[in-house]
Amino acid sequence: MVLMNSNLKDAAGFTNVPEGWYKMHCIDTESPENDGVSTTEAGGDMWTGHFEIEDGQFSGKNINYHNIMLGGMSKKGKPINTGMPGGLCEFVNAAKVKWECAGCGKTAYGSLVHGSAAEDKGLDKGHFYCPNCFADATMSYDTKDFVGPSVMGYVSARLDLKGRPQDRIERFLAVGDPETTRPVQSDPRRRR
Ligand SMILES: [Zn+2]
Repeated sequence: MVLMNSNLKDAAGFTNVPEGWYKMHCIDTESPENDGVSTTEAGGDMWTGHFEIEDGQFSGKNINYHNIMLGGMSKKGKPINTGMPGGLCEFVNAAKVKWECAGCGKTAYGSLVHGSAAEDKGLDKGHFYCPNCFADATMSYDTKDFVGPSVMGYVSARLDLKGRPQDRIERFLAVGDPETTRPVQSDPRRRR
């Protein structure tokens, strides 16, 4: 017989966190050899990362398999909308990801112009623009930089395809953004 020791502190089981904003960061990605990037059947580029909550009661809890569409085509054959809540543009801004604008060649860290800041420039507030040339040009970035930086993520429990509750990240904002003190308006159309 071999006597073994297992620490019951590590028996975290599986729980869903209460819906709300959490400080978190990406700890690693699926297919690390491609820095998290895969291609969907429809021909879209997708990044898949695992996030870990950093502080509070749920510190250390993992939110697995968050997908961010990077571009290409959706299942419906339309260009992928990278400006969706919880999507690429929100994440780039929240994590201050370094990127280069194909329009002006300048480098920025997050800082995509959106919402009322876009409106102030006479631009569509629903789109995201380069802070230097205000074009909605192509941006180049390295998904390696998605791993590590702290962001605020809004987590909700949705049902997966088998009807089991599953933590999902619905929004990303920068740490310290005043919007993260408010709950996100639930959109029933987004619920499965
Ligand atoms: Zn630019």
